[in-house]
Amino acid sequence: MSLFVQKYGGTSVGTVERIESVAEKVINFRKQGHDMVVVVSAMSGETNRLIGLANQIQDSPDAREMDVLVSTGEQVTIALLCMALKKRGFDARSYTGTQVKILTDSAHTKARIQDIDVSNMRADLDAGRVVVVAGFQGVDEHGNITTLGRGGSDTTGVALAAALKADECQIYTDVDGVYTTDPRVCEGARRLDKITFEEMLEMASQGSKVLQIRAVEFAGKYSVPLRVLHSFQDGPGTLITLDEDFSDMEQPVVSGIAFNRDEAKVTVAGVPDTPGVAARILAPIGAANIEIDVIVQNASADGTTDITFTVHRNDLEKAKTVLGKVCTDVNAREVIADDKIAKVSIVGVGMRSHAGVASKMFDALAEDNINIQMITTSEIKIAVIIDERYLELAVRSLHKAFGLDAIEK
Ligand code: ADP
Ligand code: ASP
Ligand code: MG
Repeated sequence: MSLFVQKYGGTSVGTVERIESVAEKVINFRKQGHDMVVVVSAMSGETNRLIGLANQIQDSPDAREMDVLVSTGEQVTIALLCMALKKRGFDARSYTGTQVKILTDSAHTKARIQDIDVSNMRADLDAGRVVVVAGFQGVDEHGNITTLGRGGSDTTGVALAAALKADECQIYTDVDGVYTTDPRVCEGARRLDKITFEEMLEMASQGSKVLQIRAVEFAGKYSVPLRVLHSFQDGPGTLITLDEDFSDMEQPVVSGIAFNRDEAKVTVAGVPDTPGVAARILAPIGAANIEIDVIVQNASADGTTDITFTVHRNDLEKAKTVLGKVCTDVNAREVIADDKIAKVSIVGVGMRSHAGVASKMFDALAEDNINIQMITTSEIKIAVIIDERYLELAVRSLHKAFGLDAIEK
């Protein structure tokens, strides 16, 4: 008998029929004698609908009230799933984040979990009940409802699995595992049997939304066995593993390709090339709580240079306002903004032991006439900023160039 924490995403609980199917599935595990803790997302589209309502009132509503609002989505699904379980004669109890006591910090809309009280859940499990927990939400030390950022139900699942020392955390979704790239964009994408935590962390941070990055961080930190599976199709899914040495397959150089359209690029042009000027430009950006991703400084010509960096698209207007002032302060020529960019990244632990990966990537992009605007690397990743229009072409070309189309399932 095992303890499983299963998380079902928005599409998997998107209709009453699907919620009933999830109940059937959970019951099958119960019948095999397993203890079950089930985390659910809001019904698909619900979180966006709630955010839309708020935005009809205000562009950036109060973060505390936003959390009160968006946390309601998950409260609906926990109750409906419990009803579906009880209708079938299985005892179940629903919990909001507050009722469990998933304690977080007070960073509304992007709170971090600090502690989980497992006592209520343990008592229910001991009494033979299925425990159903609302994903994506917690409570801070003052009793305020908090949420964990978009996709945060994954993190609830992993955190509960860590706290309860579950045998496995299973993330059920609308794909049958983690693929070499988003199967919606590349037909040749293949399911991976395994992927290392490190690679999954890079894939998630570079834009693969199949798992929230914090969920992967948590699983790595607490060694939670983590698997991504299809909610309604049988199959082994993808295991996220600490083990880098896959004896059953040859380790490819590149394991996956991630991308996102979430960033925008800003250039401060004609900056005097003197010590300290980059700090004077970036400090006010940091002070305005704007996160920076890729940064490039051009070689200086005629004593001036250009500093370009990317920010989240939602922060572009704020960044432009901050930089307008900075531009005058540092005596730069102008600020140029571009939100029609995309970032494409190749990820793989195999890169560590292979030379020439970057040139192969750049060759593949050149062959399709795709101009690289910025480049950034880490030990197991190379990412480029390109024109958004060429994103899908770039993903497909790189997928082919690195032999991912050919990997056997
Ligand atoms: P859920 O609502 O179940 O949390 P998400 O929409 O958050 O589901 O995540 C699943 C989606 O992630 C898939 O439908 C797929 O389009 C997308 N995705 C992006 N990159 C990948 C990848 N490498 N492998 C699998 N799915 C991916
Ligand atoms: N419902 C939340 C969202 O849409 C959390 C989740 O589904 O993981 O982001
Ligand atoms: Mg998700």
